[in-house]
Amino acid sequence: MTLEAIRARIATAEGPAGPATTLLAVSKTQSASAVRALAACGQRQFGENYVQEALAKQRELADLGLEWHLIGPLQSNKCREVAQHFDWLESLDRVKLVALLDAARPPARPPLNVLIQVNIDDEASKSGCMPEQVAELAGLVAQAPRLVLRGLMAIPAPAADHARRAAAFRRMRALFDALRARHPGIDTLSMGMSDDFELAITCGATEVRVGSALFGPRG
Ligand SMILES: *Cc1c(COP(=O)(O)O)cnc(C)c1O
Repeated sequence: MTLEAIRARIATAEGPAGPATTLLAVSKTQSASAVRALAACGQRQFGENYVQEALAKQRELADLGLEWHLIGPLQSNKCREVAQHFDWLESLDRVKLVALLDAARPPARPPLNVLIQVNIDDEASKSGCMPEQVAELAGLVAQAPRLVLRGLMAIPAPAADHARRAAAFRRMRALFDALRARHPGIDTLSMGMSDDFELAITCGATEVRVGSALFGPRG
């Protein structure tokens, strides 16, 4: 689908009163030239899952000044590269990473934007913290001078039916609203992918992460 068609579907899901939803184009496994083509249509924010793959694309596309989000699981031995080369980390899920990222963020760059990933209903997945752990992690990020807490991210269980997915999205929105009472500066709830981004928007997402619907199937 074209970028314009995806944007139109987002606008319809938002409705007339809706706030502007950020579209994150998920470019994992896509070539640098595919990213360049989408950037030429006006897309600025791109999401990547694998650090090495992302760094190669960033080097090739450095002239475009794009905004890069890491959305895949983060290992501690990759914290330095992520702090040096990304604008956002959407998958923070454990205490240990906070100090590593904070120490490695270069002084010449603005603070790294951070979303805490929550394991909202997929018990089998190892990514994301439990909802009970969000408050502690958020407190640590908020105190780190080189990080800025922006909100939450989730990937509900892929097998879940429509009603279960909507329930998971609504639980995320409730967690987000509760966190915002403590941290009024947060503004981002990242949830919804190619299959369910409209549902996520109606349940309160402020950012959707769309890959295959934009770029076509991954090879
Ligand atoms: C791959 C991926 C997406 C995009 O998935 P599509 O179904 O291709 O839209 C979004 N979020 C995360 C965390 C992903 O890994």
